[in-house]
Amino acid sequence: MTLQTRRLDGVAAAASVRAEVAVSVARMAEAGAPAPCLAAVLVGDDRASAVYVRTKIKACLEAGIVPREHRVDAKVQESDLVALIRRLGEDDTVDGILMQMPLPRGIHARAVIDAIDPTKDVDGFHPVNVGRLWSGEDGFVPCTPLGVMCLLEKEKIELQGCEAVVIGRSDIVGKPMAALLIKASATVTVCHSRTRDLPRIAARADLLVAAIGRPGFVTAEFIKPGATVIDVGINAVSSEKAARDLFGEDARRLEDIRQKGYTLAGDVHPGQADGRAGALSPVPGGVGPLTVALLLSNTLEAARRRRAGKGWEGS
Ligand code: NAD
Repeated sequence: MTLQTRRLDGVAAAASVRAEVAVSVARMAEAGAPAPCLAAVLVGDDRASAVYVRTKIKACLEAGIVPREHRVDAKVQESDLVALIRRLGEDDTVDGILMQMPLPRGIHARAVIDAIDPTKDVDGFHPVNVGRLWSGEDGFVPCTPLGVMCLLEKEKIELQGCEAVVIGRSDIVGKPMAALLIKASATVTVCHSRTRDLPRIAARADLLVAAIGRPGFVTAEFIKPGATVIDVGINAVSSEKAARDLFGEDARRLEDIRQKGYTLAGDVHPGQADGRAGALSPVPGGVGPLTVALLLSNTLEAARRRRAGKGWEGS
């Protein structure tokens, strides 16, 4: 069966979130309040992390949010990094704290995340916010799954009672994604690397979310005809053969590889999902832009709540 697969436009959805944030920040300035400030902490010289932080800083500037970058040597002691995070928590001019992951070997992410002030935890990784999410209470939610929910809402995808399958159980995508879908009254199954007969379970889904980290892993047999498929994966594909398998003779992809050495692919095989899924979020241009947009809106929310002297209690 061949369907017309609708593209879910993450670029447009992200642009509208960013524009709303920019308007709210401008209103704060008109009212004489300082702009929200996001402190971004980058440890070491991982190239991908540096690109992510640069993208987030640029987005902050465009929305009127003040970015503050803290670059830390890869050889930093865990206790010194924890002390920096605590200082940012106590600094009244800082509204949000972004600890760019991954951290160098030898530093325990848990210890560093636990040091983030939960009221400034715009990535939603602190246990207080994780607990709030799973208790069905308001709090900071990790930006990528929040971005998926935003995309689904903007594209008017009905979730109540739907069968949703999430592939991936990471703390930053899979688990919070499942919690949000439960909150939205979907019936949720979480699959992972040890799941038996994954294609059969995935093919039950009205909504399939792939957050695995393997290019083109989700093939036609995983997809129920007409299902909405959200591709969270961002993978660098550097071989022309692999790119041809995923994208056919897409000249732009092959050009990417020749010029940059790679092209970006999701976890869903685009050639096989096309014509089978009812709707599909592309890579790039799907979930990625929303992750950045939701970081901005979480930072705005952090500034509003802290300045109003209220946390999430009773909200
Ligand atoms: P992760 O490595 O922490 O987790 C991957 C998950 O996939 C694990 O839970 C694992 O059990 C599961 N998995 C791995 N191999 C599997 C297999 N063969 N079958 C079934 N499940 C399998 O990754 P993550 O941080 O959750 O990221 C997942 C993907 O999403 C990556 O491609 C990452 O780059 C991307 N990502 C994108 C954004 C964005 O803004 N769009 C944000 C975060 C992560």
